[in-house]
Amino acid sequence: MEAELAAIVGADHVRADEGALLTFSTDATPLERGRPDVVVFPANTEEVAAVLRVANERRVPVVPRGSGTNLSAGTVPHRGGIVLVLTRMNALKEISEGDLVAVCEPGVRTIELASAVAARGLLFPPDPGSQTTATLGGNVAECSGGLRALKYGVTRDYVLGVEAVLGSGEVIRSGGRLVKDVAGYDLRRLLCGSEGTLAVMTELTLRLMPAPEASGTGMAYFRELGDAARAVSRVLASGILPVTLEFLDQVCIGSVEDFAHIGLDTSAGALLIFGQDGDPASIERDMARMAEACEAEGATEVRLASSPAEAAEVLEARRAALPSLSRLEPLTILEDATVPRSRIAEMVAHIQEIAGRYDLKIGTFGHAGDGNLHPTAVLDPADEDAVRRAHAAFGEIFARALELDGSITGEHGVGLVKLRYLEQQLGADHVALLRRIKAAFDPNGILNPGKLGS
Ligand SMILES: Cc1cc2nc3c(=O)[nH]c(=O)nc-3n(C[C@H](O)[C@H](O)[C@H](O)COP(=O)(O)OP(=O)(O)OC[C@H]3O[C@@H](n4cnc5c(N)ncnc54)[C@H](O)[C@@H]3O)c2cc1C
Repeated sequence: MEAELAAIVGADHVRADEGALLTFSTDATPLERGRPDVVVFPANTEEVAAVLRVANERRVPVVPRGSGTNLSAGTVPHRGGIVLVLTRMNALKEISEGDLVAVCEPGVRTIELASAVAARGLLFPPDPGSQTTATLGGNVAECSGGLRALKYGVTRDYVLGVEAVLGSGEVIRSGGRLVKDVAGYDLRRLLCGSEGTLAVMTELTLRLMPAPEASGTGMAYFRELGDAARAVSRVLASGILPVTLEFLDQVCIGSVEDFAHIGLDTSAGALLIFGQDGDPASIERDMARMAEACEAEGATEVRLASSPAEAAEVLEARRAALPSLSRLEPLTILEDATVPRSRIAEMVAHIQEIAGRYDLKIGTFGHAGDGNLHPTAVLDPADEDAVRRAHAAFGEIFARALELDGSITGEHGVGLVKLRYLEQQLGADHVALLRRIKAAFDPNGILNPGKLGS
């Protein structure tokens, strides 16, 4: 097969040496690995289609891959086969100020698009924490979120059109640069969050917005996480839609301070970070109202950043949560159980109780405004009992999230690691429908087999 693949993409872009097979056997998900047979780097849609035709004929698994930053083992080739790396397809083809769209290949990194459009006074809002590394193809395939999701939505809300190659090698286009277009089923939406199981996306048309004039950032400390959660409800009920509403629990505040030394109050039970963007007058009004809401719910200290440098420092506290926790122990398991925002305090209390009962260190941070929590366990992978306890604890955390009308994943995807919980959330009929949809796109089941739709 290697020779056939080399004839399509060129011998330099087919790798079956030990180094490549090892590199592409894992992604950012801990503890999961699988050895591919070959790694292929196509340069364009025609090459992707030709590779898929070969794989389809031979019934060889194909795992599409961007930068491999996903946290659900979505790119782990656990059934071997071809890892199809799309990072050579990295052309930012067009930025249209008139149509407010960008057209690009899937291997463009999120930050490249965000910076290129910012230079023209435009905004591409989805900003996952991995934006300097992750690709737009990966963002769309996972329907990634970010710190601005509360106000601006998630990646799905910015996908206007997709070109994609089906398991058979056929090429389709769904949507385009139109704001309104209802011709046919909305397949571009179906491909958002499809995790490489339905088609390989080869071109994306993404919606842009005018950049806001300015932004404001503030922070509030609370004795208890419940007080912070009530402040979130009060802010949202007051008619403000903030651009940022993030929280850190006490474990995270402590680990961020140890790591970043930014003067956080480590005695606080919770830290809420809030922000708004828009015109300066409405920012001033909204920031004052958010500060009042925090004070009304017993904030022990509220601070509004008075300069861009101070604002960056406040946001750094949130962005440093994961890297700082991951310094505590060699193994970090980051999850993303999600609940309705009115149930955040209850969910965090469950997480803390479960962590105590399983004798685990779990810090929780996340997007308070949209109920997307990141309980993060840190442990030693050599301690097999701790690893077993962590798996059991997360099983309980997901079950609790579902009891609270939540989800097993808000933004990181199902991948390999959460497939066993999917039916618990969706039910058997729903999962069966996913399988039939998968079969329509990929009749021989070659695309990312053993994951969504399998
Ligand atoms: C430090 C860190 C911070 C993170 N922060 C966030 C965050 O704030 N919000 C968030 O939502 N996620 C976050 N993530 C998770 C991850 O970065 C995102 O899921 C990201 O979108 C993955 O992009 P990628 O290019 O790395 O995709 P990969 O990991 O390579 O692939 C992800 C999935 O997409 C599929 N895929 C990739 N490219 C294509 C394509 N062209 N066509 C079809 N399928 C494709 C793959 O098969 C796989 O299922 C974070 C991860 C890390 C490590």
